[in-house]
Amino acid sequence: MVALVAILLLATAVQPVYAQQEEEEGVRYTVQPGDTLSSIALRFNVPINDIIAASELANPNALNVGDVLIIPGIDWVEGTLFFQNVALGDNYLSLKRRYLLSDEGMARLNQLTSPEQMYYGFPAMLASDHGELTGSARSVVAAGQSLWELAAASGDNPWALMAYNQLPGAWAVPGDVVFTPGRQAPGPGGLPSGVQFVEVEGIGFVQGRTVVINAVTDPDIQMGGEFFGFPLNFFPESDSQQVALQGIPLYAETGTFDLTLAGTLADGTPFSFTQPVRIASGGYESETLTVNDPALLNPELSEREMQQVYDMVMAATPEKRWAGYWGAPHPYINVINSSFGIHRSYNNGEYENYHYGVDFGGGVGIEIWAPAPGTVVFAGPLDVRGNVTIIDHGWGVYTGYFHQSQILVNVGDQVQTTQVIGLVGATGRITGAHLHWEVWVGGVSVEPMDWLNRIYP
Ligand SMILES: [Zn+2]
Repeated sequence: MVALVAILLLATAVQPVYAQQEEEEGVRYTVQPGDTLSSIALRFNVPINDIIAASELANPNALNVGDVLIIPGIDWVEGTLFFQNVALGDNYLSLKRRYLLSDEGMARLNQLTSPEQMYYGFPAMLASDHGELTGSARSVVAAGQSLWELAAASGDNPWALMAYNQLPGAWAVPGDVVFTPGRQAPGPGGLPSGVQFVEVEGIGFVQGRTVVINAVTDPDIQMGGEFFGFPLNFFPESDSQQVALQGIPLYAETGTFDLTLAGTLADGTPFSFTQPVRIASGGYESETLTVNDPALLNPELSEREMQQVYDMVMAATPEKRWAGYWGAPHPYINVINSSFGIHRSYNNGEYENYHYGVDFGGGVGIEIWAPAPGTVVFAGPLDVRGNVTIIDHGWGVYTGYFHQSQILVNVGDQVQTTQVIGLVGATGRITGAHLHWEVWVGGVSVEPMDWLNRIYP
């Protein structure tokens, strides 16, 4: 009897001690490159000395990347914290669902004032307190769709979906992501399971540059989307690979804009997913130009002609005509009189014009070569641009040749790489003979030299 009492006493005495330790332990945080104790303390709003004591740091001055700290006094999130850069195809809602985090947890971990701050590439801090739903199929809630309709479409029990995703109710917001138990589906959390992978190649979203978006999908999924008011035109590279090329306008302001990836599944069901992405500065310079004939500065004329040109380069022809590197359009591509992207003022007016192409130097009569195969879609005179040729290379990629003294092709001609298509001149609004060479991608003028310096898919 005495022994039994002793055991009971021991048990009741021991129990709260464990609870106490659990309470004091706090969350675990792995030190990241660039972290200092004070930046970590500031991020979690916890005194430095409390972190030192809880983590039992012998030498607080020697913090190493990968060290695991205990952050005490945090009760709004549990488990181990980690960083993950927001991938293409993930956003606030998909990450919140995947890691079963609360709005408060997401906001406090990431010092968010708006979900829009979680743009593509943002270093999101997440917590694995409830595990993660990575090995699950996904559905994206379309506008006007209820959880019941979503469950019916995926063949799941709506109550099971609610429980698995810890949803507070059967309603669902458009763009929300619902994970389905027991099915394997790797890939970005915000897109349907048939989309296995999406990525942006190279430099990403920069003013005046070409964006390449690759998608790996199940067969019969058609990808599409929209960015900055331009449709994303995906074309198949193989049965499972699709590619979209899109230019980012020079006039796009730096900052965060919504990218929509959308499409249809094999059975015709549409999907649409939106995430914020950041447009970075292209770092372009400014210059002042003098034009002697003021009639040519007529803004109405400039705008009408620009619209006329943009109308010709908007359509995306499904057949891609190039493969590998492009050839040079001009013998002296290293002699650049004026680079792409320069912010221009005419006759000391406002800096409201951009240089949408690259100017290659050299005199009247120098040969102009087609840099890649294509179809001539325009060949004729324009007021500002002089004698112009425009070639369609497929997939929404066009090239333009301005100010020519002679045009040597006709609309409808099929041109080949290195073919002579015209001669350099000084026609149109111009200060001296040169070739203004322009490249459009998805209806947007882009840095042409990129198209000579790298291979596009
Ligand atoms: Zn130019």
